[in-house]
Amino acid sequence: MAVVAVQCPECESQEVVRYGRQANGKQRYRCNNVDCGRRIFLGRYHNTGRLPEVKRQIVDMTLNGSGIRDTARVLGVSPTTVMTTLKKKHRRSTR
Ligand SMILES: [Zn+2]
Repeated sequence: MAVVAVQCPECESQEVVRYGRQANGKQRYRCNNVDCGRRIFLGRYHNTGRLPEVKRQIVDMTLNGSGIRDTARVLGVSPTTVMTTLKKKHRRSTR
C-alpha cells in the first residue's frame, strides 16, 4: 500500500485522515488538528518530489553532473527524494 504524504494546507499538520471523495472522484481529507480552522480539504501532493515534472528534472540534472545535494537544493526537494527518485529510475531502466 502506497503511503501518500498529505499535509493540511491550513495548519500544515500531518494528522489528516481520508474523508471520502468528491463527486468528481477527487480524494478529500479531514484535518485532525482541533485548532485548525479548515478541517476539510482536497487531497494534493504536498511533496513536490512526487510530481512527474520534478522527477524528470531530478534525472536531467543528475545526467548533467549535478550532485544529489545540489539537485535537491535547486528543485526545493529533500536529498532523500532525489535519491529515491534516482533509485526508482535505475530499477526501471535495468529491467
Ligand atoms: Zn489543519
